[in-house]
Amino acid sequence: GSALKNGSLRVLLAKPRGFCAGVERAIDIVERALRVYGPPVYVRHEIVHNQRVVESLRAKGARFVQEVNEVPAGAVTVFSAHGVARKVETDAAAGGLKVIDATCPLVAKVHKEGQRYAGQGCEVVLIGHRGHPEVEGTLGRVSGPVHLVSTVAEAEALLPTDGGRLAYVTQTTLSVDDTRDIIAVLRRRFPAIQGPDVRDICYATQNRQTAVRALASESDVVLVVGAPNSSNSNRLREIAEVCGRPAYLVPDAGGLNPEWLGGAGTVGITAGASAPEQLVQELIAAIAARYHVSLETLPGVEEHVRFRMPADLAHPV
Ligand code: SF4
Repeated sequence: GSALKNGSLRVLLAKPRGFCAGVERAIDIVERALRVYGPPVYVRHEIVHNQRVVESLRAKGARFVQEVNEVPAGAVTVFSAHGVARKVETDAAAGGLKVIDATCPLVAKVHKEGQRYAGQGCEVVLIGHRGHPEVEGTLGRVSGPVHLVSTVAEAEALLPTDGGRLAYVTQTTLSVDDTRDIIAVLRRRFPAIQGPDVRDICYATQNRQTAVRALASESDVVLVVGAPNSSNSNRLREIAEVCGRPAYLVPDAGGLNPEWLGGAGTVGITAGASAPEQLVQELIAAIAARYHVSLETLPGVEEHVRFRMPADLAHPV
């Protein structure tokens, strides 16, 4: 009952937050594939980096695998939103798999840019985080040498064969600020370098980073709903921290540590691009179980981006 609550707390929600168009499309692709082809539908890698999403699709008949060689010959297989290396496509074709590609069109755009630069005879610098599946995919799509650079220090240390024929592309979910710093170093060291400015960072990443900065300026503590392996969610947490606020990544309501809220007048909440709104609502409910909550949403950008379905799923049954 209310007598047991700790007092009042203002809960401020960032806008936009949560699902982006690429994540919505990827989830929709698996659901449509399940309806059109029937279960099981195999999915290479977590379709998006969120356990709740993975579990709900698994309950509907999706089977998650790490590599395509785990998929029985001929089975329907979805590639995740993060994209795949060329070799994964070749392996899938060799296994006779029926592939449906849920690679986000904005990731595919980076693949094409990288290929175009390599085709012009440039060595390609990929700005991104080692080991992230999107980075593995992009590395495996550009022919010729690709240099992976994750930090300003690595940009300072980069030794291309020919600094006069160099181009860069970036991961879609990086910090806009960190990326700008890395690009500035590359431009200073290699004035001829070509690249798309910071535009490879997708609209959803940019909008959520702008929104979390506004959120942090009005909050005493910031909670980011997102998975530990979600790149864009980690960047949101870092940005709130750089703004001088304690900030925590919360996979779900169970991850809330009540001590974080002690003494706070306003708690800001946002969510990474792969986190369902349901998880945000459950977190608010967990907070409301302890405090009298007043809920507000900060004004922010309206997003209207939608991506087309692959042709064979365009008319769902
Ligand atoms: Fe696509 Fe950006 Fe969403 Fe990644 S975060 S799936 S690149 S829209």
